[in-house]
Amino acid sequence: MEAALQHRSQIEAGLRLALKRDEFELHAQVQVDSDHRPIGAEALLRWRHPERGLVAPVEFIGLAEDLGLIVPIGQWVIERAAAQLAAWQGQALLGRLTLAVNVSARQLHDPGFVAMVRRAVATHGIDPGLLKLEITESAVLNDINEVVGLMQALGESGVRFSMDDFGTGYSSLQYLKRLPLSQLKIDRSFVNDIATDPNDQAIVRTIIAMAHTMNLDVIAEGVETELQRSLLGAAGCTRFQGYLIGRPVPVGEFEALARSLLER
Ligand code: C2E
Ligand code: CA
Ligand code: CA
Ligand code: CA
Repeated sequence: MEAALQHRSQIEAGLRLALKRDEFELHAQVQVDSDHRPIGAEALLRWRHPERGLVAPVEFIGLAEDLGLIVPIGQWVIERAAAQLAAWQGQALLGRLTLAVNVSARQLHDPGFVAMVRRAVATHGIDPGLLKLEITESAVLNDINEVVGLMQALGESGVRFSMDDFGTGYSSLQYLKRLPLSQLKIDRSFVNDIATDPNDQAIVRTIIAMAHTMNLDVIAEGVETELQRSLLGAAGCTRFQGYLIGRPVPVGEFEALARSLLER
């Protein structure tokens, strides 16, 4: 336990300095359509720790949330993502790719959030429709009115929202109906056993049918096998993300992959 506490306080001390030392980087995981053509990417945060090497978000996002550091870190992520979209806009083949960014509850409820996102979009002169914010059901639960308000405000600026890890939280259809979303993201847990678990297969079908009824697009995350992809496709899913298609990689590598898939 002492070792665990020591580890935590080391991570905490490092985390407080990581922004100043420019130790964060965004990796990108490709998202494709039914024809295996890239439609965009999810931005996934990594911490390039001077001693520990590349640190995954499970190791520090929770702590950053507890410490309130997720607000400035999240701002850095949005700023980087907007800069990345601006860079793609000027490049052959990459100009229409979307970039999805994860947003924690804590960030969403920060009073400066809407202005911060608008500023990033304006500063980089990007098409706001290419920036997608991934939120979770739990982020909405605290105060749905507030969240609907800020989603509408950003929606008017053209920014889109995706409901991440869909099906794992506690949001009711009542809630879902009120949220100005453009996408549902089927959680990896349902995709994982889709080939063997008839319940998961039924859940996935239901999510996809519901999304279509509500005019939302759907993407499945955590697609690892051809069988999973074909079952998802048979259930009506047309967007896919997962190790089968590509792992999260540094942006330069992502660009090369996206180009090679788009040039075919
Ligand atoms: P998430 O948003 O659900 O992101 C998907 C996670 O699943 C990523 O883990 C990704 O690497 C992993 N993944 C993708 N495809 C597969 C697959 O086929 N199989 C398996 N087993 N896993 C797959 P990662 O990058 O470690 O991120 C973990 C979580 O950390 C994310 O879960 C997200 O909640 C959070 N996170 C990442 N970046 C950020 C960020 O910039 N801001 C915030 N607030 N949270 C972030
Ligand atoms: Ca996500
Ligand atoms: Ca997810
Ligand atoms: Ca997930």
